Amino acid sequence: MQTLRQQIIRLLQEKALDTLALSQALAVREKEIHDHLPHIAKSVAGRGGRLAMQPAHCEGCGFKFKERRRLSPPSRCPRCKSNRILGPWYRVTGL
Ligand SMILES: [Zn+2]
Repeated sequence: MQTLRQQIIRLLQEKALDTLALSQALAVREKEIHDHLPHIAKSVAGRGGRLAMQPAHCEGCGFKFKERRRLSPPSRCPRCKSNRILGPWYRVTGL
């Protein structure tokens, strides 16, 4: 039996997914995925890999959240104030 973190890592090794897709694939709440991400980043880094993040963008105006450093998804677009944010997408590489 794999832990939730191991399952997330395994899915992200196969392809880039956002937290919504992860939560649906693993039948847990998105919030839970968010809580695990920093730990996953650490454990992946400790094994010589990397948790890569493909930046989120706004569906309303196309604004890209390039500068964002935090792992958790932004909730609102700073340009058009829309909350229709797509991504970010996460991927585990180098393991
Ligand atoms: Zn926007």
